[in-house]
Amino acid sequence: MKYKPVQNYIKGEFTNSSSTRKLDVISPLDGNKLSEVPMSSATDLDEAVRAAKAVFPHWSKTPIKERVQVFFRYKYLLEKNLQELAELCSEENGKTIGESIAEIEKCIELTEFATSLPQLVTGEILEVSRGVECRTEHVPLGVVASIVPFNFPAMVPCWTLPNAIALGNCMIMKPSEKVPLCVGKLAELLKEAGLPDGVFNVVHGDVEIVEAICDHPDIQAVSFVGSTKVAKIIYQRATSNYKRCLALGGAKNHLMVLPDAIPGMTAQNVAASMSGCAGQRCMAASAMIAVGNVDSIIDKICDEARKIIPGKNLGAVINKESKERIEKYITEAEKDGAKILVDGRNTKVEGKENGTYVGPTVIDYVKPEMSVAKEEIFGPVISIMRTNTVDEALAIENANPYGNAASVFTQNGGAARYIIDHASAGMIGVNVGVPVPREPFSFGGWNESKFGVGDITGKSSIEFWTKLKKSTIKWNAEAGVNWMS
Ligand code: NAD
Repeated sequence: MKYKPVQNYIKGEFTNSSSTRKLDVISPLDGNKLSEVPMSSATDLDEAVRAAKAVFPHWSKTPIKERVQVFFRYKYLLEKNLQELAELCSEENGKTIGESIAEIEKCIELTEFATSLPQLVTGEILEVSRGVECRTEHVPLGVVASIVPFNFPAMVPCWTLPNAIALGNCMIMKPSEKVPLCVGKLAELLKEAGLPDGVFNVVHGDVEIVEAICDHPDIQAVSFVGSTKVAKIIYQRATSNYKRCLALGGAKNHLMVLPDAIPGMTAQNVAASMSGCAGQRCMAASAMIAVGNVDSIIDKICDEARKIIPGKNLGAVINKESKERIEKYITEAEKDGAKILVDGRNTKVEGKENGTYVGPTVIDYVKPEMSVAKEEIFGPVISIMRTNTVDEALAIENANPYGNAASVFTQNGGAARYIIDHASAGMIGVNVGVPVPREPFSFGGWNESKFGVGDITGKSSIEFWTKLKKSTIKWNAEAGVNWMS
């Protein structure tokens, strides 16, 4: 085991869980055991919530300009520790080192946004009638929780923690049990940056701890990022306990290619979008709709896909079960009559035989009713469907229950505008394969890709992490009240 057992982080200290239940942390890169992670109990959560609740009066009353100083220092520490964090991220998640560096760079950008919050949360003031003014201010909620998935061990935690904490909340983070290592390092850096003990806490675990978070009377808000199946459970449970909840779910992103698309650029973008992070991105292109004759572009996509080599510029998928599930989807599509143009099944990387790799896979002549067309595969696989018109393509995109992203590749501005208007997704790309809005724009899908109001990052997150206080004020000088008596 490469690292010592993972511990919870409560009140500024790494502490053992009260539970003896634990899971192995396995590197998808080579199958080696990295560590063990405790499956904490509700008692551990209770201790973390008590620590967070105790420091909340102090932290929430610290002026925001002072609070964000922690994040200026944290940003510098992320930069300083970029390589170490990236290596940890790659080891536990299986993505390439280049992708992991990009992930930590994104953490830095997210933190940079948090340092700008004082400029964005100024309230409003207006004299609403003679001598009477109304004013508003954003007030932190209290103890809040963030439950995160395996596919971005550092970035998704950084979607929530800098903004929620800079806005004056105290946080309990529940990392994915598959990738618990990066968050521990982030906790260390926050402490080094001067964050008071108890403001940020980490409780590791699985279903038991998530349910305890949703039920805990002293947790005011729950943010969740993960699959749609679990997002629905969390959203229902947290809101039935009268908590604020924003739950981001899974995705099936459609990418429409029109005959006038620039072939080389389109092929590179499609191949990169479907295979980046081994296809384990909620923004990955998973279904492509070829509108009209784009056969020469499909040939180029296959050429690009063949340049993507597992173990070199393609990482591993998270575990054996995931590899088997992805390969089963490909086999099922083949049986149902689709054509496998590039086949990533049975991939082995020399010297890393226990790694869980799936090669890039391009499947053509997929029908909308096939499972590879409808379901989230979460692997480096693209399913190509063919239509004659943009409206037919949009009908397929609109019929899918998710709504994270959709993209179009074209040189026709009118067609692009039409697709922006009619696609049923929260984030749209035009000649962009992974249309993640960068800060200060917010991240969030539609339909079954998100439950709750608002987005998780950017300016929109301010509404989620704060409540608005409205004061109506009249100074009555004539009353002559002596407030000091
Ligand atoms: P997951 O839903 O299995 O797990 C997410 C979190 O929920 C983990 O912390 C896990 O411990 C916990 N959990 C799992 N099952 C649970 C249950 N039954 N009850 C309570 N808690 C439970 O997701 P994952 O496999 O870690 O991540 C991949 C999924 O996340 C994909 O569907 C992907 O699209 C999605 N995702 C979405 C976004 C987005 O922005 N919409 C971003 C990243 C990932």
